[in-house]
Parts: sequence; structure tokens; C-alpha cells
Amino acid sequence: MPVRPPATHLIGAPALRVAGDVLTGASGGIVAHVYAATGEPTVEVPLAGPAEIDQGVRAARAALAPWQGLGPHGRRDALLRLADLIAAHAGELAGLQTLEIGLPAQLARQMPVIAADYLRYNAGWADKIGGEVVATWPVPSLDYTLDEPYGVIAGIIPWNGTLIAAAQLLGPALAAGNTVVVKPSELAPFVAPRLAVLAAQAGLPEGTVVVLPGAAAAGQALAGHPGVDKVAFTGSAAVARQVLAAAAANVTPVALELGGKSAHVILADADVRIAARMAMTGAIALSGQGCANGTRVLVHDSLRDKVLEVMTARLRRTPLGDPADERTLMGPLVSRRACERVLAVVDRATRAGAQLVLGGTRAGGELAGGFFVEPTVFVDADPAGELAQEEIFGPVLSVSTFTGDDEAVELANGTRYGLGAYLHTNDLRRAHRMSRALAAGSVWVNGAPGVLASAPFGGVKQSGSGRIGGLAGLREFLRPKNVWLPV
Ligand code: NAD
Repeated sequence: MPVRPPATHLIGAPALRVAGDVLTGASGGIVAHVYAATGEPTVEVPLAGPAEIDQGVRAARAALAPWQGLGPHGRRDALLRLADLIAAHAGELAGLQTLEIGLPAQLARQMPVIAADYLRYNAGWADKIGGEVVATWPVPSLDYTLDEPYGVIAGIIPWNGTLIAAAQLLGPALAAGNTVVVKPSELAPFVAPRLAVLAAQAGLPEGTVVVLPGAAAAGQALAGHPGVDKVAFTGSAAVARQVLAAAAANVTPVALELGGKSAHVILADADVRIAARMAMTGAIALSGQGCANGTRVLVHDSLRDKVLEVMTARLRRTPLGDPADERTLMGPLVSRRACERVLAVVDRATRAGAQLVLGGTRAGGELAGGFFVEPTVFVDADPAGELAQEEIFGPVLSVSTFTGDDEAVELANGTRYGLGAYLHTNDLRRAHRMSRALAAGSVWVNGAPGVLASAPFGGVKQSGSGRIGGLAGLREFLRPKNVWLPV
């Protein structure tokens, strides 16, 4: 069967919308969306530029009063209704997610479930936001805090899973009483705008959620807009620097959720089969295009051969192919540019002396038109080289060895990133000790839960400063006001 985009793209040409109005302008230009699994264009997409971003920010500001006027219970109920609508439209949203980036259908189906969960979890906080009474001395007085929303939040999100990225932002930001302007990437213009339509259907006042897909110019206009009270940026460290520079004009605070170069640390006492199977998901999940994929496999010297044997055997059998096929686990990379960039990294690593033991090529046959790269494994890469240090954002793993725990920690911590770390050991005390030593926002021991709405997720070092999920995620969108009075 030839590879075809999901029928969802027959929904019609996408439009830019602000507060229920369809915009006629598209100052960011018009781009042809390309289906990553075929390399062929699907529909023409209008992009927001500075003019539409300005309109969106104004609408979000106007929506603050009606949204906050609903009160905590009203906001809680509205978010629960939005979660129900996401669940009711799960099939359509999953199809759009596949169309956007070629995400395999079996993975795309999980996205609405996770997105709805972020809304429900945060809806539960909406009516529990208060403050605290503060100890005072020496004047008899009452001092307390009020946790207040910032106002208008600018959410700049990446293309790799827009439904979850948007829900991770909307859940806590809205529960806290903010309104939100979301700017998805020009590569992923379909899913997030549907959320704005569903939000209005759920009874959120028009303008509470504005979604305007656009490219860098729209992101710059949004981060630098004087009507924005906080920026929540998810993306690469390189673009984060430009977002920070734009936000600096108004001294707007910025929360950063950035990339990673997460390690699987497999200690000598680990269950080698389980560890190897988990480690290979670093290449498979989202075809290696996930921020928290464990793409560096650091394995105790004594287990190296076994880990490599299990990993490569399984990766050879991994179904790479048509995202619409229910058996497919691994789809294409997002674009021709991404495909060429990843193959160039493979080429440079090979020339630099790393040993290629699997993959390293673009898929052929029926998949030749799409942006498919075979799962790729290198061994003995230079720990200071590009392969071990840079986020490749493709299905490329590097395997290297260590002999002691301290060396493992040094290697794991030896990049400028610090998003996640995966630890494999059956020794409980070592697990606790190493978890403290690993410089990462999350440490997952002997498994990983996927994305949990209740747990804080974020990075250290150049993986960012913000947190998504849990109470810490909600707090990103609240700021305490202090009130003092004598008694
Ligand atoms: P990116 O940094 O290229 O783009 C992110 C967003 O910024 C997009 O909406 C893009 O249009 C916009 N943008 C681009 N240039 C801009 C500019 N000059 N000013 C303002 N905005 C601009 O990232 P990407 O390729 O879309 O996504 C991949 C990156 O995102 C990876 O580094 C990945 O690790 C990271 N990521 C992090 C998390 C996390 O939670 N930590 C989650 C997903 C992805």
C-alpha cells in the first residue's frame, strides 16, 4: 500500500482565528505544509506575523476580566469541559497530529489522553489557589500572601507533539486565571488551533485561548510584545537566547523548557535485557525527536556486548514505516531539512572515528519519498565530540562504557544539558545515591512513566529553568502578592 496522509487533511484549509473571528490577513506569509511520510505538500497554511500576534495579545488581554470573572469554580468546570471535548474529539486530534509531523497512529492516539489529563489535573488546582499566612515580628500584625495570575501568557511551543505541549501550557496557565496566546511552529499548524475552537465550545470566554501558528517573526513579536506578562517558551536553547533577548525589551519574565542530551546509565547490577530495551527507545520514540529521549547509552564495561546485542537485534525488528499503519512504531523525521541534518551528523561522526554498528541511512523503497532515517547506533564516540554532546533530534544513539559509578556520573553530567537521566540498577542504595549525583531535572530509575501531569518536569543547565506539571508547573503561572496590616 502506498503511503498517504490521513484523510483528516480533507477538513479544509486552516485559517487564522482570534476570539472567534477568522482573520483575512496572514502577515507571516503562506507556507505549504508537507507530509513528512511522503515528502509531498498537503495544504497551504496561513501564518501569523506581528500584526496578527498584536491582535491576539489584545484579545487575550480583553478576555482577562471575563475569564477571571468566572471565579475558581467556574474556571475549574470550564477546564473539565475542555478536557471532555478533547476526549470526544480524540480521533480527529490524533489524525491531525499524524498529519502534522508523521507521528505513528498508535502513538498519536495517546496524545489526546495525555492532553486531557493535563487539563483535568490542573482543573483540580483551580479552586485551591490561595496563599499563606506569614510569621511577623516585632509589630503585632497580619501578613499574608495572595497567589495571583500574571495576566497574558505567551506560549511559544515546538512542533514535536503540539497537543501535549499546548495542554501542558493551557492547563496550569488557565487554572491560575491567566489568558494565553499560543504560537505553534509553522511546521505544526493543525492541532493547536483546534484547541482554541474547542476551548470556546467549552464555554471559555472568546480570547481566553488564542492560537496563532507562525514562524520566527511571530515568535519574536510575541516574546517582545508589551502586552505579554510572562513568556513560556518550549524549544531549543539556540532559539531560547533569541526569545530572552526579545523579552528583555519589556523585562518580561521567561520560563524555559529546552532540549536535552539525556543518558541511560546502565550499572553492572542492572537487568541487562530490560535496560537495553529501554535504552533503544531513545531512538524509537518520536523517531528520536523527543526532548527527553535517552540518546547517550552509558553502560558498565562488563555489560557492553550484551546491551549492544539486545539493542541492535530489537532495533532491526522495529517497524519503521507508514504512520497510518497500526503496526508502525517509528515514523519519519519532521522535514527534509531535519533528515539531511541528521544524516550529516552521522557522516561527521563516522569521519571522526565513531564506529557505526547499525543504520545511518535514509530508508528506501516505498519510504524513499518521506523523511525516514533508519535507527542508528554508534559505539566509542568521542565523549567531547558532536555525537555525545549535541542534541541530534533523530534516531541516533551513541554507546560508550565506564568502569565505576563516579566515572558514570561524570560522563552523564558531562554535557551542557540536564533534562532527564535514566538509571538502571537493582541496588536501592546506589539508586538513591546516583539520583542525587545526576545533574538532571528528572531521574527515572528502572523505567519511565512517560508524561505525568502530576510530576514536575524541566531541566537544569541549558535544558531550561521552568517546570511543567505538578504544583511546580502551576506555580510558573502564579506570583505571590504580599499584604501586611497591623493588628
Ligand atoms: P525551536 O527552538 O526551533 O522552535 C521552538 C518555537 O520557537 C517554535 O514555535 C518556533 O517557530 C519558534 N521560534 C523559532 N525562532 C524563533 C525566534 N527567533 N524567536 C521566537 N520564536 C522562535 O524548536 P523546535 O525545532 O520547534 O523543537 C525542538 C526543540 O524543542 C528541541 O530542542 C527539543 O528538545 C525542545 N523541546 C523541549 C521540550 C521540553 O519540555 N523541555 C519539549 C519539546 C521539545
